[in-house]
Amino acid sequence: MINVTQTFLPPQEEYQAILKRAWDAVWLTNRGQLVKELELKLQNYLCSVPLLATTNGTLPLQIALKVLAKQGEVITTPFSYVATTSSIVWEHCTPVFVDIDPEYLTIDETKIEAAITSKTTAILATHVFGNPCAVEEIEQIAQKHQLAVIYDAAHGFGVNYKGKSLFNYGDVSTCSFHATKLFHTGEGGALFCKNEQLMQQCFYHHNFGHQGPEAFQGIGINAKMSELQAAMGLAVLPYMKEIITKRQVVVNTYDDQLKFRDFKKLRIREGTEWNYSYYPIIFEEENKLVKVKEALLEEGINPRRYFYPSLHQLPYVAQVEVPVSESISKRILCLPLSSELSTAHTNLIIQIINQQLV
Ligand SMILES: *Cc1c(COP(=O)(O)O)cnc(C)c1O
Repeated sequence: MINVTQTFLPPQEEYQAILKRAWDAVWLTNRGQLVKELELKLQNYLCSVPLLATTNGTLPLQIALKVLAKQGEVITTPFSYVATTSSIVWEHCTPVFVDIDPEYLTIDETKIEAAITSKTTAILATHVFGNPCAVEEIEQIAQKHQLAVIYDAAHGFGVNYKGKSLFNYGDVSTCSFHATKLFHTGEGGALFCKNEQLMQQCFYHHNFGHQGPEAFQGIGINAKMSELQAAMGLAVLPYMKEIITKRQVVVNTYDDQLKFRDFKKLRIREGTEWNYSYYPIIFEEENKLVKVKEALLEEGINPRRYFYPSLHQLPYVAQVEVPVSESISKRILCLPLSSELSTAHTNLIIQIINQQLV
């Protein structure tokens, strides 16, 4: 089966050599040498703001919401992974969905102001498929109304926007290092924050609120990355340039050889150096998507309907109308894309899709 993605695994000896350092130190978690080294190397690799490694990409969202959104209304996108919305509700905030841009698929910044009320405390938007939100316009709106901005940048690893890492934007940005993501630590994630005081607050929250072994600054949770996870990250990181280049080859092949007649591709925002993280195609009609998906499945190829359904349809949120998100989510299909996808399989996928649509 060819899945929508395939996890990159580094040579096992390389992973084991790094793990040995944890064995030698007899130290498996609580910010050991491997976590600290990974944080430094990631900051260098990404030319980015300070970051905190976490055990997944969901807890940093919850921590940012706890600190910044304070149980208020959070303006958010319905077109994302469920963690974006569930984190808002989990933190006793209220999600207020604003529809998305039909081309970029990120939150439609022109509709944000109409959704602001006296209870609004934050905006939580997703750089979906690594495509940057309209970060400058969103920052202006946030400043005008004194709102915090959190970016779910789970797909943003390695993306630069206007010459800067995407993780520079917003009060807090988060990333996921889940095994299905571009860069991974098995399970893992990070919180990026350029404000030192805010970073301190997030840091305490990620470690039970500890301020030293016997004092507590406030409430916290356990979001610490372990040494075992960091070892995987340190083993994968040296391969990132190669991984991204290989994905770029697949993307270019899709771009050149697919017949874009009944579907179109994602429009990447101008000024972006993209990371080739996903290859979504947007059909004119859902029945064409279903036809293509079935034809691929018959040949053992498993694309995914990301993101479907639109999150405003979750059973625990208030009903609203976000027609663009609802329509796109029914018509979008992510094709297999990974550094491990062979030329033969890429060509087979293209052939099957092109045949279905003549
Ligand atoms: C993967 C993902 C998350 C959650 O990250 P985990 O590391 O799986 O907790 C959050 N938001 C988006 C958009 C994601 O794709």
